[in-house]
Amino acid sequence: MADFAYPSFGYRPPPGGPGSTEACRVAIVGGGPVGLSAALDLARQGIACVLLDEEDSVSVGSRAICYAKRTLEIWDRLGVGVRMLAKGVTWQLGKVFHGGEQRYSFDLLPESGHQFPAFINLQQYYAELYLVEAARAQPLIELRWKHRVADITPEHASGNDPVRLTVETPEGEYTLLADYVLAADGARSTLRRRLGLDFKGQVFEDRFLIADVKMKANFPVERWFWFDPPFHGGGSALLHSQPDDVWRIDLQLGWQADPEAERQPERVIPRLKAMLGESTQFELEWVSIYTFQCRRLERFRHGRVIFIGDSAHQVSPFGARGANSGVQDADNLAWKLAHVLRDEAPDALLDTYDSERSAAADENILNSTRSTDFISPKGATAKAMRDAVLELAADYPFARRLVNSGRLSLPSTYRDTPLSTPDRDAFSAGPPPGAPAVDAPVGAGDADWLLRRCGSGFTLLAFGPESGPGPELPAALRQRITVVTLPATGLAARRYGAAPGSAYLLRPDQHVAARWHRPSSQDISMAYKRALAWTA
Ligand SMILES: Cc1cc2nc3c(=O)[nH]c(=O)nc-3n(C[C@H](O)[C@H](O)[C@H](O)COP(=O)(O)OP(=O)(O)OC[C@H]3O[C@@H](n4cnc5c(N)ncnc54)[C@H](O)[C@@H]3O)c2cc1C
Repeated sequence: MADFAYPSFGYRPPPGGPGSTEACRVAIVGGGPVGLSAALDLARQGIACVLLDEEDSVSVGSRAICYAKRTLEIWDRLGVGVRMLAKGVTWQLGKVFHGGEQRYSFDLLPESGHQFPAFINLQQYYAELYLVEAARAQPLIELRWKHRVADITPEHASGNDPVRLTVETPEGEYTLLADYVLAADGARSTLRRRLGLDFKGQVFEDRFLIADVKMKANFPVERWFWFDPPFHGGGSALLHSQPDDVWRIDLQLGWQADPEAERQPERVIPRLKAMLGESTQFELEWVSIYTFQCRRLERFRHGRVIFIGDSAHQVSPFGARGANSGVQDADNLAWKLAHVLRDEAPDALLDTYDSERSAAADENILNSTRSTDFISPKGATAKAMRDAVLELAADYPFARRLVNSGRLSLPSTYRDTPLSTPDRDAFSAGPPPGAPAVDAPVGAGDADWLLRRCGSGFTLLAFGPESGPGPELPAALRQRITVVTLPATGLAARRYGAAPGSAYLLRPDQHVAARWHRPSSQDISMAYKRALAWTA
């Protein structure tokens, strides 16, 4: 029996009832991991939103299971990271097998001194439930379940007028006029369709079986990936641990496989027994056959309608880049939208969501496509080359770099963003402008971590003797920038390549806007304005 009881969040009619028209500042369509993260982030910025979802529960079956360090850091900022970590299964080691032989192993986070691990595995339904519970505790978020957005008025999507959404409920339709709409309605996005937008990219001709099974097993908590295992000839296989003694097994079936037949227990169980052994006792928790695409919208921003998560881009599950990159979309957008709505930044700041996150999507699509090409080589020559690389990987590190069973999700560095101030000073280490800030322990207590000291707005990390004068903030920015003073020696200083007087200006999403060794107050002021798109 599965341990998870699917909740029913219940339906409530819109305040004005069916047939009414009401207005809101931000409507979020879709309460998956991405829409919920965006709602929590906006609330943290003091912006109210209405979140509409056509269902009234969490994702059925776990699609996503692997959540990366950066996503956990973002969720910690939103108040749910520790809860995810406590329930999740922590891992950082991966092993790659070819046939029956292990070829090599890799460690995704070999150093200590980080609050969050390289990865946790957690069923998507738990992740969504924790996000919903956090959102329910937020007075600025109004959750509306069983509210399906059926239409969006296209001619209003790019003008100055509010966007008109037609929302269907069990009792009838109503109209919601929103200043901004965040389309977080997933891979089959109604909003994308209604606006006549299409994806560009590749659809892959392969099918995979997912079986989440409940069993007591002695496998270590590691990611195991097989190419051509003896128990599943010709395909790949993946094994991953999840909480509640649930294990994810993912088997490549090939394009010819009949999806209806392959999801039947009489086909699934013999495949699993071949892998786990005849005597292993297990129960099927969830079975699914999936195919995938690596593609994205050409533009993520369409006037006042902004696409985030799977509605904007899709990748293969190898590399765990779907939900992880979607949460990073929310992280990138929420502070920008909040600044624009508060008249603290020009509209052009929202265009940088498009440029920064579409570059991130391209990076994810490239990695995901390469993994897919390696896992499913096209033709005999490509397969022979692939197998030769796998043979060599046992002994030669150079060949390991060519093996690709899914390069696991890492946050993007926004290299070409106009929001960053290029380095004037030389740094021997540390995240460059555009990169996410790096965490480090900064105090005696277990809970004292650098990223936790950052404010909800901009943060200046100022390295120097505790008692010495730090960099001087311009008077106008004293309420806008949180100053975190850190010693110029120790792990944090080493990770940032800092000397006494060094400073990093972090954006609200904790990406580096600028860094210097001895900034003047004018340096800080100019970098702040640039990070808000006031200057280029
Ligand atoms: C087999 C598999 C394994 C995966 N593994 C991983 C992994 O390990 N790590 C990872 O990061 N990603 C993984 N992913 C991808 C991940 O599941 C998705 O990227 C993620 O769910 C996207 O989140 P989202 O919020 O954008 O969309 P969704 O989770 O699809 O949520 C969309 C929401 O919108 C609602 N909705 C849809 N239409 C409407 C409408 N018209 N009106 C109102 N509401 C609407 C839906 O009810 C739903 O709640 C995996 C995917 C698959 C298929």
